[in-house]
Amino acid sequence: MAVGAVISPANPALTAGELAHLAALSKPSVAFAVSSAASKLPPGLSAVLLDSPSFSSFLHGPGDASVMDAAVIYQSEPAAILYSSGTTGSAKAVVLTHRNLMTTRAMPGPAPPDEVVMLTVPLFHVYGFVFCLRPVMAAQTLVLHTARRFDTRGVLVAVGRFRVTRLALAPPSLLAIVRTAEDDESVTASAATLQVVLCGSAALSPGLIRRFSHKFPHICVLQGYGLTETTAGFCRSIGVEESRRIGSVGRLSPGAEAKIIDPGTGDALPPGVLGELWVRGPFVMEGYRGDKESTSEILDSEGWLRTGDVCLIDKDGFLFVVDRLKEIIKYNGYQVAPAELEDLLQTHPGIDEAAVVGYADDQAGELPVAFVVQRSGSKVHEAKIKDFVAKQVVHYKRIHRVFLVDSIPKNAAGKILRKDLAKL
Ligand code: AMP
Repeated sequence: MAVGAVISPANPALTAGELAHLAALSKPSVAFAVSSAASKLPPGLSAVLLDSPSFSSFLHGPGDASVMDAAVIYQSEPAAILYSSGTTGSAKAVVLTHRNLMTTRAMPGPAPPDEVVMLTVPLFHVYGFVFCLRPVMAAQTLVLHTARRFDTRGVLVAVGRFRVTRLALAPPSLLAIVRTAEDDESVTASAATLQVVLCGSAALSPGLIRRFSHKFPHICVLQGYGLTETTAGFCRSIGVEESRRIGSVGRLSPGAEAKIIDPGTGDALPPGVLGELWVRGPFVMEGYRGDKESTSEILDSEGWLRTGDVCLIDKDGFLFVVDRLKEIIKYNGYQVAPAELEDLLQTHPGIDEAAVVGYADDQAGELPVAFVVQRSGSKVHEAKIKDFVAKQVVHYKRIHRVFLVDSIPKNAAGKILRKDLAKL
């Protein structure tokens, strides 16, 4: 980014088809990959192998500072492209500018040098991508957890070994830590240096915070709330006092404006009333690359971004995220776009129509489940459909249950009534 390159991080576990889709959106000129993932890159895209001897000698070589000195970069220029399905449809390329990154709440003020931060969320998601910038710039120690699945004992051992003071994670990992501590008292000792746990990217239940605080009374649980489209968190609880507002994701960051809108009338609502949260500020994305239509659906001409989340703001300015209007399913903090899975299911020869919704789950937050209308004369089975999807998508987008139905409920405009399906 310092030389003006635009970075677009992608999950190396994606399938070749999924990577090709993202590359078609962001149009990269070069890819950086580990050799085990390189075979999945789109044909024709040249790749630098991160685990090759030539890259290692480049990294350890003398470098050329003049390249950096010569770079002139404006705040309005793109710095990164991340992916989100927004309020509807499948993945879109979210363009974040240098100004977005400079003003994000994830980077408040100077960082204390003795802080040791551990990050257990992936660097290709906006949470990890933005969160790792401050420790890197402030030359703090940053401990990364790189296993594909959250390894509770491994994380606790690393916390003790590196004397971690701040641990950043997503709600399912907090649950895993609580369960481990409830089964085995001895693990609490390994968290002695931890002062703060930062949790974001999906809803955290008040009951879970209480269970965690019971086992780890010395650790303050702070929540952050934001979207890929808002360069991660623009709302965060700060300090022990605010952490006691259980259920709230904190208050707006400086420079952020918010309003709660009645989705039916478009009117702004008073404090304490539920509606859709709209937000405005210098951290709001430039737009979706090459997709004016989707950009104008989420971002209005005055700079307000529709979050698609049902929220309320209390009289003290604390935000509570209560529900979602938008389609996305959050599985372990990852976005799963129903439209993408529906399109895939509809390529199955035995399926006439399909709808995908999230089903509440203690561990993962939500599980993707499918409702399927089979084509007349064909016989489809749950196991086969699950397998059909699993072969073509990354692990977190797998379908967990399939329900055969006679028809998919839709409104007059043909839009799937997801809330009705979720009730089923
Ligand atoms: P993403 O772009 O993947 O970060 O997803 C953004 C969405 O995740 C938000 O619009 C919310 O629906 C959800 N989300 C993020 N943080 C929180 C949080 N702290 N509490 C509840 N939901 C959250």
